Amino acid sequence: MSEKNHTARSLARHVSGPVYGPATPGYDEARTGMQQLDRHRPDAVVEAADTGDVRAAVAWAARRGARVSVQLTGHGLGAGMEGGVLVLTHRLDGVRVDPARGTARVEAGATWRAVVDAAAEHGLAPLSGSSPEVGAVSYTLGGGVGLLARRYGFAADHVRRVDLVTADGRQREVTESGDPDLFWALRGGGAGTFGVVTAMEIDLFPVPRIYGGSLYLDLTAGPGALGKWLRWTGTVPEELTSGVSVVAYPDADGLPETLRGRRVAQVSVAWSGPPEEGPAVVEPLRSAAPVLFDTLREMPYTDSGEVFDEHHDRAGFRGRGVLVDRLDGDSLAALTALTDAAPFMCAVWLRHLGGALARAPRSANAVGHRDAAYALTVLTFAGSEDTDAMRGLREEAAALFGAHTVGRPFNLGFGPMTEAEVREAFDPGAHERLVRLRAEYDPHGVFHSHRPIGPC
Ligand SMILES: Cc1cc2nc3c(=O)[nH]c(=O)nc-3n(C[C@H](O)[C@H](O)[C@H](O)COP(=O)(O)OP(=O)(O)OC[C@H]3O[C@@H](n4cnc5c(N)ncnc54)[C@H](O)[C@@H]3O)c2cc1C
Repeated sequence: MSEKNHTARSLARHVSGPVYGPATPGYDEARTGMQQLDRHRPDAVVEAADTGDVRAAVAWAARRGARVSVQLTGHGLGAGMEGGVLVLTHRLDGVRVDPARGTARVEAGATWRAVVDAAAEHGLAPLSGSSPEVGAVSYTLGGGVGLLARRYGFAADHVRRVDLVTADGRQREVTESGDPDLFWALRGGGAGTFGVVTAMEIDLFPVPRIYGGSLYLDLTAGPGALGKWLRWTGTVPEELTSGVSVVAYPDADGLPETLRGRRVAQVSVAWSGPPEEGPAVVEPLRSAAPVLFDTLREMPYTDSGEVFDEHHDRAGFRGRGVLVDRLDGDSLAALTALTDAAPFMCAVWLRHLGGALARAPRSANAVGHRDAAYALTVLTFAGSEDTDAMRGLREEAAALFGAHTVGRPFNLGFGPMTEAEVREAFDPGAHERLVRLRAEYDPHGVFHSHRPIGPC
């Protein structure tokens, strides 16, 4: 083995899972995730075989002053780590449902798909998000706004216990009674900051079926459709969670004829009330603009990935998220005019918040800005480089919402955030508390997070 693999060789003596150094075949694949604009360049990558490996890798790195980052799918990759140890969690993929308690113990390597499938065997559902391919643990640590969000709140509001490996290499069972500060911080305070979560216990909900899917509306022929969606969100009950993604498709070969050269709003809807009532709730949207495709149907929750029908191929993209307390048709029109005119591929994502998201959970947590009514994300897509023009457009778009901006979304930002930007994701006082706790639990800054809290 070459000198480049010195760290990997040394670490390999302490763990049972495979370890890759920069000169080991498989290193590039191991460090790469879904997001293509960022990549870690660690001195060693360890595929943890069990929690013992996680503890050993963290302790080994901490003793040497090396940093540690964690990766499952790479959906949240941002600001890759240079050097240090990257811990991969995909082998820790157990999901154990306790139907009597209505809970699941979810290991760090489980995606939402695994949790959804296991819960469905008992007629239950987790508070999973738009994409079943996202990691359940990291999503939940960052708050987690899912398909049932307006009915049940943030995923982080329904965590009962977290198993965490802290910078001292200790495995802790973090519960409300045992470790109230850490328990508060981990639920919404983000992933990767306080340690490596090896498993968590979460609540499940009796939602075996939903009425859901997407209406693809032709904004070219019905430019007022976004305003109609907005007004409709003001009338719907909490059992309805919806979002819109707006894309101006180029007139290019390879695209379906129906989409070519059109501005399209994909309105995605998840109704968790009685399924037979869903069509009537959604009906007003059908007349908002010509419908290009309609995928709405009653479905088992196991098919809920079809609601937003997101792509999971590796891609390079950046997003700028904004949380607003109010949204009007004029600012939405200005936003889409801006993104339509861009000389590169853009999308605007909107999520309707409120309902249970706005209410305090039974045990307080770090989730910020519950007063936000909508989350907006402006996405730009890039092959390999995020250009100044793309960054400029995202910031220009965010500035359109001025006084109605209440903060930044934590999870739905997509891409790296600076320490100052992360601060905007929390309520006053909460960020200071998180910084204090970071200094207490990770005083030497062992953990490299995609959402840095406190000095790094
Ligand atoms: C297509 C798509 C759809 C999405 N939909 C939603 C949605 O509907 N609602 C929502 O709230 N969010 C959504 N997100 C955001 C998503 O929740 C976050 O990006 C989340 O961090 C992804 O977690 P991951 O484990 O899949 O990704 P990774 O990139 O593997 O992890 C992201 C970061 O989390 C940390 N981390 C990962 N595992 C651990 C661990 N075990 N312990 C400690 N830290 C850890 C690391 O810092 C890592 O860099 C979506 C993202 C994408 C790309």
